[in-house]
Amino acid sequence: MRYACTALNRTLPASAHYVRATLNNVTQGTMQLAQEILSNNSLAALKGVGPKTRDRLARIGIESVQQLLFHLPLRYEDRTQLTPIGQLQPNCHYLFEGTIKAAGIVPGRRRSFTIKLQQDYSTISLRLFHFSAAQTRGLLPGKRLRCFGEIRFGRHSLECFHPEYVILDEDAVDPPLPQALTPVYPSTEGLHQASFRKLLDQVLPQLDTHSIEELIPTEFIANLPNPESTLAMFAQFPLGKTLRILHAPQKSEQALLPICQQRLAFEELLAHHLSLLQVRQRLQQLMAPRLAGNDKLMQRFLTGLGFTLTSAQSRVYEQLRAQLAHQEPMLRLVQGDVGCGKTVVAALAALQAIGSGYQAVLMAPTEILTEQHFRAFSDWFAPLGIRLCMLSGQQTAKQKRDALALIASGEVGFIVGTHAVIQDAVSYDRLGLIIIDEQHRFGVDQRLSLRQKALDSGVCPHQIIMTATPIPRTLAMAAYADLDVSVIDELPPGRTPVQTSVLDNSARARVVERVHKACQQGRQAYWVCTLVEESEAIQSQAAESTAEELRTTLPDVQIGLVHGRMKAAEKAEVMNRFKAGATQLLVATTVIEVGVDVPNASLMIIENAERLGLSQIHQLRGRVGRGSTASHCLLLYQKPLSANGKRRLDTLRNSSDGFYIAEQDLEIRGPGEVLGTRQTGMLQFRIANLERDVELLELVHQTGNAYMRTYPNNVKPLIDRWIGESVYYGNA
Ligand code: ADP
Ligand code: MG
Repeated sequence: MRYACTALNRTLPASAHYVRATLNNVTQGTMQLAQEILSNNSLAALKGVGPKTRDRLARIGIESVQQLLFHLPLRYEDRTQLTPIGQLQPNCHYLFEGTIKAAGIVPGRRRSFTIKLQQDYSTISLRLFHFSAAQTRGLLPGKRLRCFGEIRFGRHSLECFHPEYVILDEDAVDPPLPQALTPVYPSTEGLHQASFRKLLDQVLPQLDTHSIEELIPTEFIANLPNPESTLAMFAQFPLGKTLRILHAPQKSEQALLPICQQRLAFEELLAHHLSLLQVRQRLQQLMAPRLAGNDKLMQRFLTGLGFTLTSAQSRVYEQLRAQLAHQEPMLRLVQGDVGCGKTVVAALAALQAIGSGYQAVLMAPTEILTEQHFRAFSDWFAPLGIRLCMLSGQQTAKQKRDALALIASGEVGFIVGTHAVIQDAVSYDRLGLIIIDEQHRFGVDQRLSLRQKALDSGVCPHQIIMTATPIPRTLAMAAYADLDVSVIDELPPGRTPVQTSVLDNSARARVVERVHKACQQGRQAYWVCTLVEESEAIQSQAAESTAEELRTTLPDVQIGLVHGRMKAAEKAEVMNRFKAGATQLLVATTVIEVGVDVPNASLMIIENAERLGLSQIHQLRGRVGRGSTASHCLLLYQKPLSANGKRRLDTLRNSSDGFYIAEQDLEIRGPGEVLGTRQTGMLQFRIANLERDVELLELVHQTGNAYMRTYPNNVKPLIDRWIGESVYYGNA
């Protein structure tokens, strides 16, 4: 997240809410002032921007008037009318008024200052969990309040937590209602919504008359391939007018908001795309080493492998091999469903780098996966005389020191690790290839840090990013200007598809019995405890108590437990025992989601399946079905299950196609979650919305190069306007 959205529910100083100069009554003098402000672009010219506010604005990327103008509202609140308390509905925001009937502190787990507010015969409870003595003294029975907030169901009546409010003066006329919708801005700690309004009120008045620089000329829009669509309407929305409407829409302008948003979304997507193209161009000017490899080494590796590559693996490896041998730096996404065998393909690429005298590094998202990769690569590489080492956050100081020395001296050719591989202390010796496993678990910044490490070692590296979570096309288009993609679309032979069943929790006893039977028959099982959005600590606790419960119910089954709060060595020990068959049932949190490979495990139970993403369940499920016995996955859910929830779980029952599942997931949950939370930083648009603006995105991709050629001087200002200089994401 680039900025946290806070301050929305804070109680603002009472006077601040309705102090908002309407555009109509701005005097001529203010107008002139505003023009100056706009042309000199410095925040210092605005009233009310002291050093503290300036710091806070800078924190969310606002350092100039232009940046303030392009800091766009997240949503709008309608405070143009009052709603009677009797007509309030839960889960919506309202402006309402009433008289305080009672007020007092209600003790309990969540101690609150609670106010009963009445209007006619209807009441609502206002609850403040953070409150000052001044508030308890001032909010007395008999006072009238005007409030704004979200209504929710309470235990006894409707409630509103932390409404914004003003105390209405008995002796004066009530303040007028605003004419305009109230914008809500993304903000940061200590920066109130009112601050944005105060600043913008000094800038907006001139936008209708005095336009701000158009970086996308009208003739460019007119010549776009699809002029009859929305785009044609863009001509009627010069930038100044568009910004004015978005920041301060009159109620009557509400219908114009979508077109204004799209007008700017187009600009933003174009800016974003141009920045990716630029990064790409810059990258192409750098020269990566030609990694021709060593045929003998390859041959020995393939012979020792114990299986032959699937044709999909061979094809993808050929693509990698050809590109690695060129000096243009490779950036290739290798997609393939869980279990398709990406690791061995990565090993072949690594071997090619090592055989050419360069180091290769593999970054994996978890300790468990790192351990597992280290073991697999040791088995593969040690017989070939290739030294390798591991880096992880939980190594002892000595282990770490030794590894760092081996890496810096170039004695090891292959390094595998968690994000420990990008620590400051690591310095590589000719790092020619970077491989990132399960890339959706990493942020773009982490990938770029690793690349920087290679540059520090004097080499522009080739990069492979691997994922089992397919990125739908729109997301890929937005995230990468021009990324090469290889797909491993075939599973190794001898796998039997996983049969998935969906069961509600009342079947739990039967499920336990089934686990029992499988274990008695010499098979192994996973029991995955999931709690969405809870901390790792709480997840781990849940796994601990489930393990305890199962140990009591199934005394004759050897049960292991693995979760994120255990030490790396403990985790490794538990995994090793499970892998060796010493434990039959492994109770785990989602730490086993990625990569864990134990072919004898053929049964998986996933609790609270209704609360997980489809792709995540698909990943988890991929831990079974790796051997030749028929495998089963039981998805347990908590009743009641919504129709949508049912449809989602059915998708999993009926399909084992990761791409299809990811698309369904995208439809249901939106892009951020599909790409993984860590990665959403790269797709945080101010106003564009990937689902809504697919067409604009296509258009931007078709015309980006033409724009760059025709208006080369506009490129930098456009990127600066939307992205700023500090953000260097993209496919570098
Ligand atoms: P993923 O693509 O999910 O990372 P892995 O690389 O972990 O999959 O491979 C899953 C399992 O399949 C591993 O045990 C691996 O050794 C095995 N495997 C990979 N390729 C083949 C193949 N061509 N034939 C047989 N088994 C294979
Ligand atoms: Mg893998």
